[in-house]
Amino acid sequence: MKAGEFKKYGHEFLEWMAEYLEKVEDYPVKSQVSPGDIIKQLPKIPPEASESMEKIFIDFKEIILPGMTHWQHPNFYAYFQGNNSKPSILAEMLTATLGAQCMMWVTSPAATELEERTMEWLRSMMGLPNEFTGVIQDTASTATFTALLSAREKAGQVNENGFLHNRYRAYCSEQAHSSVDKAIRMAGVGSKNLVKITTDEKFAMKSAELELAIRNDLEAGYEPLFIVAALGTTGSTAVDSLPEIASIAEKYNIWLHVDAAYAGSALICPEYRWMIEGIEKADSFVVNPHKWLFTNFDCSAYFVKDPEMLVNTFTITPEYLKTNSADSVKNYKDWGLQLGRRFRALKLWFVIRNFGVKVLQEKIRHHINLGQLSLLTPCVSGFTPMD
Ligand code: PLP
Repeated sequence: MKAGEFKKYGHEFLEWMAEYLEKVEDYPVKSQVSPGDIIKQLPKIPPEASESMEKIFIDFKEIILPGMTHWQHPNFYAYFQGNNSKPSILAEMLTATLGAQCMMWVTSPAATELEERTMEWLRSMMGLPNEFTGVIQDTASTATFTALLSAREKAGQVNENGFLHNRYRAYCSEQAHSSVDKAIRMAGVGSKNLVKITTDEKFAMKSAELELAIRNDLEAGYEPLFIVAALGTTGSTAVDSLPEIASIAEKYNIWLHVDAAYAGSALICPEYRWMIEGIEKADSFVVNPHKWLFTNFDCSAYFVKDPEMLVNTFTITPEYLKTNSADSVKNYKDWGLQLGRRFRALKLWFVIRNFGVKVLQEKIRHHINLGQLSLLTPCVSGFTPMD
């Protein structure tokens, strides 16, 4: 594609994008297609010769769009809306244009340093203690898995030795997100060693039951490894009692991971910080700006108290990844599962700057008010989350 054509279609697409966002309410929220409707319109073999962008764009509008569910529709109530915003979309366009791999400082110094600073901003916006260091992961599922692998490494140096025993136990409430179950399976702890603690009338974990389960496990010769406290469960937005759970984790020296994937965004409003009382005793914390902070999927902020432990768990540096600056900079490839990393900090930076903290707080408060209103009136319309 020549530069002129790139510009022409770039402008055309942007026009379309702006109009789509303005008129998203005109679409049915949920795609109306039946299984197989889309695939039967797609050729079985890829084109041998180049196809015009015009034709591809027509097919996007006529074949693909009818098969889309419109997550940015104001009447989308199916899951937590995958929040989005215009500054975030614009930043994503720049990210795609730069096409950079942001795995090490040297592969894009600005990406690493912006990620560091943006995570510091987010930490202070949410009132997290300065002892926490942040890194952007793709999803909360990855962040929780990352936390569990760090806990496993701390307890048994499993990276080097493999499992010398598997008497590990992990704990979460019966309302915790399925990503915890998945992490437990993937880390080799085993589903049968994930103890689901019962919940109270507000669907929050019964902390006394947690302590009882830990004691019983210790007596039976198990090794309690990992607790997940949920701030905002997926099914019912329940908030587990962090002060109580954190004290238990501290008493028995168990890794405490806090899953605030979606509700954590409310912490930017000081009146919701009661949720993180006791957070200084936690080991890790995750919040998804891609859920409720106007940042396109994917952008999950993972905070850890002991970054060295995290880095110990994930560092592998073959010859081709050795750099001279390794001792003086952060190489985020060592802060999680992936080697190649997208430049996710850019969109979060655009969002925080272009909205400003005050407006973000107002939006969160507005959403909570709408939520309370919707308890009285089942359908609130006329509100466009993209505005
Ligand atoms: N934790 C909670 C409480 C959630 O609500 C969700 C998703 O809805 C997740 C974790 C998983 O998030 P992700 O899609 O970023 O893995």
